[in-house]
Amino acid sequence: MAEARLPKRVDAVKLVEVNQRFQAKIDTESLTRLREAVEDCEAIVECDIEFMRDQEGHRVIQGSFSTRVSMVCQRCLGLVAIPINSHFELGLVFDDEQAKQLPRRLEPVEIEFEGLLDLWGVIEDEILLSLPSFPTHAVNECHIKQPEPETNNTDIKRPNPFDVLAKLKQK
Ligand SMILES: [Zn+2]
Repeated sequence: MAEARLPKRVDAVKLVEVNQRFQAKIDTESLTRLREAVEDCEAIVECDIEFMRDQEGHRVIQGSFSTRVSMVCQRCLGLVAIPINSHFELGLVFDDEQAKQLPRRLEPVEIEFEGLLDLWGVIEDEILLSLPSFPTHAVNECHIKQPEPETNNTDIKRPNPFDVLAKLKQK
C-alpha cells in the first residue's frame, strides 16, 4: 500500500462538512521550524486527523500524531531520542470574536476567508508545543550521574597530594 501524504493546504470548511479523516504522514524535511527546534528528526510524522462538527456545532479538528526527534540532554549535553506522541483538539474560527466564543477545551485556529488552512503548519505547531522544554536522558542512561553521597567519602579517603608534598618537605 502506498504511503499517503497529508495534504499541505486544505479547504477546512469543506472537510468539516464531509467529516474527512486522514491517516497520513508528513515528511519532516518540510517542517523547517521543527528542524530548527531539535537536533534531528529521526522519524516521519504519522498523523490521524479528523475534521468534524462537535455536539455544540463547532468546527473541530481533532487528532493525534507521533514521531521521534533527537534533542540535547540538558544534563550531559549528549543527544537523547525523544518519542513524541500527542493528541489535540482545535476549534476552527474565522476571527478573534469566534475564538472568544469557543469552549476552553478547544484551542482556536484561525482559517482564511476562503476556508483554507495550512494543515502542515497546524500539525507542526502542535509538535513544537509537545516538545519537552527540559529534555534529558533517563537517569540510568545519562552520561552525568546524579550526585551520589559516597562521592565526598571517596575524596576524603584519597590522600591529598599537597599533604604528601608537605610531609616530604618536613623530612
Ligand atoms: Zn544526558
